[in-house]
Amino acid sequence: MTVPFVSLVETNNEIKMRFLDSVSQLLDSGSFVLGDGVKQFEREFAHYVETRHCIGVSNGLDALTISLRCLNLKEGDEVLVPAHTYIATVLAVIYAGLKPVLVDVDEASFNLTAAAIEKHINSKTKAIIPVHLYGQPCDMESICALADEKKLFVVEDNAQAQGATFKGKRTGSFGHINATSFYPAKNLGAAGDAGAITTNDSALAERAMQFRNVGSAKKYVHDIIGYNARLDEIQALFLHHKLPLLDKWNTERRRIAARYVKNLGGVEQVIFPAVIKDAESVYHLFVIRTNKRDELQQFLFAKNIQTLIHYPVPNHLQKSLVHLGYKPNDFPVTEKLCSTILSLPMYAGITDEQVDYVCEMVTEFFS
Ligand SMILES: *Cc1c(COP(=O)(O)O)cnc(C)c1O
Repeated sequence: MTVPFVSLVETNNEIKMRFLDSVSQLLDSGSFVLGDGVKQFEREFAHYVETRHCIGVSNGLDALTISLRCLNLKEGDEVLVPAHTYIATVLAVIYAGLKPVLVDVDEASFNLTAAAIEKHINSKTKAIIPVHLYGQPCDMESICALADEKKLFVVEDNAQAQGATFKGKRTGSFGHINATSFYPAKNLGAAGDAGAITTNDSALAERAMQFRNVGSAKKYVHDIIGYNARLDEIQALFLHHKLPLLDKWNTERRRIAARYVKNLGGVEQVIFPAVIKDAESVYHLFVIRTNKRDELQQFLFAKNIQTLIHYPVPNHLQKSLVHLGYKPNDFPVTEKLCSTILSLPMYAGITDEQVDYVCEMVTEFFS
């Protein structure tokens, strides 16, 4: 048996024919940029996340960068980001001319907590980017309460958690303005690069729309220095067909996660991802921890099981970010996680036999 880390074929096949039909109609219409498909998907995704506005953009990194640009902060203002996240969260802060200040994460949930954030707030701090890493929501109640008290903006990085909820409310609807990515392997993946911004604030939504379209609200009138960061019409059609299936696929991911936990429950050397109270994770990734990570990964590879590490090099030790001035041991939890985490195969469409085979092999490795 072989188990790929991820496969998109099963989910894509569910919408393939409908998508191809709509592409055929699109070719006849010739309306390829910011056409009806983008507007329709923006309405649908806003409705799904339960925000008043959605602005489709080119990818998740642009969604984050534009969200930050919309806040009108001053060059050098500080933005708190988790030390343990995909590098795009940090890059967006740099692109927006702001200063990323890294905050170590909670070991059990992998996420930022209000208590950890509070220690890094000073007079230059202007915003927080909570990342719902691996599909698990941060405790948005305490983070938003802290942000309110300290008058800070909240920008959720919802790239890995489309459909997740905290106290029954969708991630991507808590912050002032929020970003997500539809990179193909995300829970809601496009057929290429795509992303979106969600917000309840009409003024921020209008600015985001200008930023993504070369700074223009009216054709050939440019009031701000914008980007070409529009959501592609073809991607919008693809996402339109997939969105109605997202909840079903997320339920499937939760079922797979439960199967992993049940099958591997007896293996003492494996630590499972903890889900915080009131949160419903959508398991973008299923990340276990073990001190024998590298050996386990090699063993599984030899058994035709693909695993990945998200992420092997912490951001503060990346060459591209040395100018931030961090050094080894600055973020002990993040560093510990980076050397012990392993992402097991997880996608809607993986079979029970495949999950059971992975579990058998993990059990065999430790016995
Ligand atoms: C994928 C991802 C992004 C960036 O999205 P792209 O569409 O690849 O630019 C940002 N943050 C997190 C946490 C991600 O997982």
